[in-house]
Amino acid sequence: MEYAVAPAPVYTLPVAGSEQQFPVNRLFCVGRNYAAHAREMGRDPDREKPFFFMKPANAVVAVGSNAGEGEVTIPYPPKTANFHHEIELVVAIGKGGANIPVEQALEHVYGYAVGLDMTRRDIQLEARDKGRPWEFGKSFAQSAPIGPIRRASEVGHVVEGEIALTVNGEARQKSDVSKLIWSVAESIAYLSEYETLEPGDIIMTGTPEGVNAVQRGDLMVGTVANLDAIRVRVAG
Ligand code: MN
Repeated sequence: MEYAVAPAPVYTLPVAGSEQQFPVNRLFCVGRNYAAHAREMGRDPDREKPFFFMKPANAVVAVGSNAGEGEVTIPYPPKTANFHHEIELVVAIGKGGANIPVEQALEHVYGYAVGLDMTRRDIQLEARDKGRPWEFGKSFAQSAPIGPIRRASEVGHVVEGEIALTVNGEARQKSDVSKLIWSVAESIAYLSEYETLEPGDIIMTGTPEGVNAVQRGDLMVGTVANLDAIRVRVAG
């Protein structure tokens, strides 16, 4: 086979405690999945149906190695003056499927990681308020730094535990995974009714309250339960 142009690279995340890399396919992100965050965004946190947006595979930036914690630097993206952090529990799908029942949904999880859904908030809110797509606010290169994947077969399923983010050592976001409005299993089941999930898909499960802007040079440290922490610096 001869490609007409160079094919896009495969974006990967290290599997902690392994030499293997997890190849990233699509990133599905759940919107407003913690009540206190829905409120801070000016929305009703009632349990309405979940909704999703997507990021391209080149949003992924691997933080750390298969040995655990590490630090990366991401660029401050163009066309924004309000670059926001959103700390999230990341789910890596190992087994595909459609119409997956909630009771079987966790069987489709390969593992979990800590990630950031970095957002050009000014662009997102303008789009939202005009009824336009969120893409320019959410779906850009290097907007999803994600740590090493811990296999569910080793660490179990992440259904509770602290989710937190500091910026330059100062607490910004702090909640608990148990406060997800739509659990990991429910999110997988719901999403799989609309789109057949494939191995390599990633689900970013939503962020708790406390989202805020970062500036050039800031250092974000994100933690979720007992997963590997991530350190992400915004380029100066
Ligand atoms: Mn998010």
